[in-house]
Amino acid sequence: MASITLEQVNKMYPGGYHAIKDLNLDIADGELMVLVGPSGCGKTTTLRMVAGLEEITSGTLRIGGKVVNALEPKDRDIAMVFQNYALYPHMTVAENIGFALRLQNLPKPTIAQRIHDASDILGITDILTKKPRQLSGGQRQRVAMGRAIVREPSIFLMDEPLSNLDAKLRVKMRAEVKLIQKRLGVATIYVTHDQMEAMTLGDRVAVLRNGELLQCTTPHELYFNPVNTFVATFIGSPAMNLFEAVIDYSSASLLVGSQKIELSNDTMKRFSGATRVTLGIRPEHFFLEDLPNSSGLVVDVKLIEELGYERLVHFDIDAKRVWGEGESEESLDDIYGGRTARIVGDTDLKPDDKVTLHFKQS
Ligand code: ATP
Repeated sequence: MASITLEQVNKMYPGGYHAIKDLNLDIADGELMVLVGPSGCGKTTTLRMVAGLEEITSGTLRIGGKVVNALEPKDRDIAMVFQNYALYPHMTVAENIGFALRLQNLPKPTIAQRIHDASDILGITDILTKKPRQLSGGQRQRVAMGRAIVREPSIFLMDEPLSNLDAKLRVKMRAEVKLIQKRLGVATIYVTHDQMEAMTLGDRVAVLRNGELLQCTTPHELYFNPVNTFVATFIGSPAMNLFEAVIDYSSASLLVGSQKIELSNDTMKRFSGATRVTLGIRPEHFFLEDLPNSSGLVVDVKLIEELGYERLVHFDIDAKRVWGEGESEESLDDIYGGRTARIVGDTDLKPDDKVTLHFKQS
């Protein structure tokens, strides 16, 4: 088992494209680190550099404390699981799982034991004699994981391993990946573009954009203390509402469009002289009750999407929406220009209502 360290790592592709810029990342032994970000941000490039499949232009890569920049992939003691986990169609599940071990000429009883142990962990002992074509998508994915596990590597690299599965199976498998990773205790880098997968899986999550690391921290910190509007809107769905706001120091309040929000002393202290700020409120942090110490914004309800336990209330307000960097109306998954509240509990709200949405200052 081993830790992984990237120090000032850069990747310049032939032709001069700077795909990774001064990347510093530390993955502790046993840790599950998720790399997340929009398409083209450099997740796969990073993973391939760690695997040795892509040369590092400058910087240092350490595995278990040892510099491995020049080490061949096969000598790095790594196992990878990809999105396209081509299984050998003519081999049984057991043969597929044990393939790499046979190449290493390990003794037959050792191979059998390792196949047994891996399939036990993955819950696939009953399909060992089947051929890939007889398996479901989820079973095939487990076999692909089995091939990685039997090698008993010191690190795992996973590149969107669940993206070929349907939504329901993805959720189930993502929980399994987490359980298995914790059980094996092997440092793992997991690449996904899905922020939900990143948040649920990662011990820590590294958010990349245009080859730069924006923030690397726990899912909780990422959600509550994003470093900028890109991270703030990338994490969470529907995206965080961002409004242009002006601070009025004379009345200790925030002007949002034509509305005035009184600010608590604690909030005022944090502004230190700024006049224009961005007010960010997550859809799930709005509520309808006028609770003590809550603030409110009057909005026009436009559309309600009923989800059973909760509902998405799309609204309009005479305040300018601020777009997170790289974000636009088209990029949002909600439909009313990025102004959404997620309201839990029963309500008789309907389109064209004027309502006060409350929130707590933090
Ligand atoms: P996705 O989520 O779409 O897989 P990604 O975050 O994994 O994206 P990478 O595949 O690492 O992104 O690519 C990062 C950038 O490097 C992209 O702009 C891509 O076009 C570029 N790139 C990747 N491979 C090469 C290559 N072999 N030559 C030149 N440019 C490349």
